[in-house]
Amino acid sequence: MRYISTRGQAPDLTFEQAMLTGLARDGGLYVPAEVPQMSTADIAALAGLPYEEIAFRVMRPFIGDTFTDEVFADLIAKAYAGFGHDARAPLKQLGPNHFLLELFHGPTLAFKDFAMQLIGQMFQEALSRSGERVTIVGATSGDTGSAAIEAFRGLDAVDVFILYPHGRVSEVQRRQMTTPVEDNVHALAIDGTFDDAQARLKDMFNDFDFRDGVRLAGVNSINWARVLAQVVYYFSSAVALGAPHRAVSFTVPTGNFGDIFAGYIAKRMGLPIDRLVVATNQNDILHRCLTTGGYVTDAVIPSISPSMDIQVSSNFERLLFDAYDRDGAAVAALMDELKTQGGFHVSQGTLDRLAADFASGRASEDETLSTITRARDHMNELLCPHSAIGVKVAEEHLDDAPMITLATAHPAKFPDAVEKATGTRPPLPHRMADLYERSERVTEVPNDLGALEDLIRERIHT
Ligand SMILES: *Cc1c(COP(=O)(O)O)cnc(C)c1O
Repeated sequence: MRYISTRGQAPDLTFEQAMLTGLARDGGLYVPAEVPQMSTADIAALAGLPYEEIAFRVMRPFIGDTFTDEVFADLIAKAYAGFGHDARAPLKQLGPNHFLLELFHGPTLAFKDFAMQLIGQMFQEALSRSGERVTIVGATSGDTGSAAIEAFRGLDAVDVFILYPHGRVSEVQRRQMTTPVEDNVHALAIDGTFDDAQARLKDMFNDFDFRDGVRLAGVNSINWARVLAQVVYYFSSAVALGAPHRAVSFTVPTGNFGDIFAGYIAKRMGLPIDRLVVATNQNDILHRCLTTGGYVTDAVIPSISPSMDIQVSSNFERLLFDAYDRDGAAVAALMDELKTQGGFHVSQGTLDRLAADFASGRASEDETLSTITRARDHMNELLCPHSAIGVKVAEEHLDDAPMITLATAHPAKFPDAVEKATGTRPPLPHRMADLYERSERVTEVPNDLGALEDLIRERIHT
């Protein structure tokens, strides 16, 4: 299995190389050269299997010879052993033909654990085999950083540095980053915004001396291995509701388009998915693009669903690559227009092709809060604000196919919004009830590239 860049100018890579690299050298994203197919019989055979076994069967064709079957099965088992629910991704019924897929039973209470726990294991295995070490640096508005620190803590082939905007993440998110005691993980509170953190991270990747010197690696949502791990729960949930013998639809609270792109890959593999519904908050560039064809950035307006406060959805580039018949030059031209003019327009033909797979909707701040209240009162379900956006938009798209809405975080991870909507502060799950008592370890850093690079060089293990 080879991986190719969406901009057509970077070398093809194996799964292992694509995973360890993240971003392609031509600025594009890696995608599989062809999407492996699962037959109706293959999909039907998944019914009733444990999540780990479904994960093995769905992901196996993508990884080539990076891991043997035995090793890969073992990595999957370790990745999900720490989840707080035996089903890993359980389904709950919300109403007639509407179901909630709970993706928040991992160690940091958001769906990012599904991918991050697995790539932690895969990085460690690949690196210990080659005797190499890497330095992972990530920028986060909260959930990616906590999931990364949790996944990589204590692994001896990796040092991890997570930059988060000082004073701008929720207390639960911060504590999940600052309380792990292992000395290969480092929470860095930058004196600046999330955009500053992301800009300094980009600067580090563009400083080739530094990049090569510390063997910099990225685990943000453009890493193909993260998308792949998320394909699994589309299969497990669809099969539980009758696939492949009937089609289902999904609604996905969306920011960087990573999670919903995994659903699109599941469909391309042969899973009968009727519609994939993009749900956005007031930062609705994807909803605007799918309804008007204009992908035009706007200022980010902070919301109560901060993990979706995004105006450039990186993984959308992967979908455009398919919509433009895998023409890398066409994608590169669009991305250039985005960079120089702040946006681009897709053709009517492209828009029609996208409409065959995708629908979309948005929720305002008030609609998000009222959905949390209504779900508590009428569905007996406490939703986080991101999941509430999904439920609201899904309700506008209900039809004959069962609708599965992805619940992307646990309500206790965003207690302020939930308390505002319901008057009740959601408690943390048992297994992390002492989070507020653990001591914190954090380094405050200036918004300065040289100072950050010095600190990282000093702290890494060699
Ligand atoms: C990251 C995140 C999202 C958005 O996911 P994308 O893959 O970026 O579309 C939604 N909800 C929560 C809670 C998240 O952490």
